[in-house]
Amino acid sequence: MPVRRICKYGEQILSKKTEKVDFKKIKGELPKILGDMLDTLDLVRGAGLAANQIGLDMQLAIVRIKEEEREMDFVLINPVLAEKSGEIAEDEGCLSFPGLFARVKRHAKVKVRALNEKGVPVEITGTGLLARALQHEIDHLNGIVFLDHLSLLTRLRLKPVLMKLKRQWKKMDESKGMQKPM
Ligand SMILES: [Zn+2]
Repeated sequence: MPVRRICKYGEQILSKKTEKVDFKKIKGELPKILGDMLDTLDLVRGAGLAANQIGLDMQLAIVRIKEEEREMDFVLINPVLAEKSGEIAEDEGCLSFPGLFARVKRHAKVKVRALNEKGVPVEITGTGLLARALQHEIDHLNGIVFLDHLSLLTRLRLKPVLMKLKRQWKKMDESKGMQKPM
């Protein structure tokens, strides 16, 4: 299944709250969409991917966690953060900001309710990287990127770095002959 181009920071679809999924309506095309998302994630070795990062306006995301050499994928449809506790600040990156890392404060433990790929309601409780990835992907679906969590001062300080990165991303896309999705 084709690997999709990942939208970069500055593209409108990343700052818009995505549309709630009507499972019955997308059931037929879901395997293809998920296949594309998983292949895209494989290629870039990410810990998660939200549908709007590949240009799809829907509340759908994947979180991939490696635990004791075992890889686990969580499919999240219409996910909501049901419970959260604690706080922890760690370095975080994002596939829509290749090359940028920043310290982001997140809840240490979360419980997420969502539908899985079969349309079955599931509850996922996570700490550590899983908790961080769940919050990061749910943020994406709400039009929030990790940069939005940083202080104004930090964002100002990162501005020149971002400008430089944006030029690199443009070159990356041009060299691959990538078209903007939609
Ligand atoms: Zn991200």
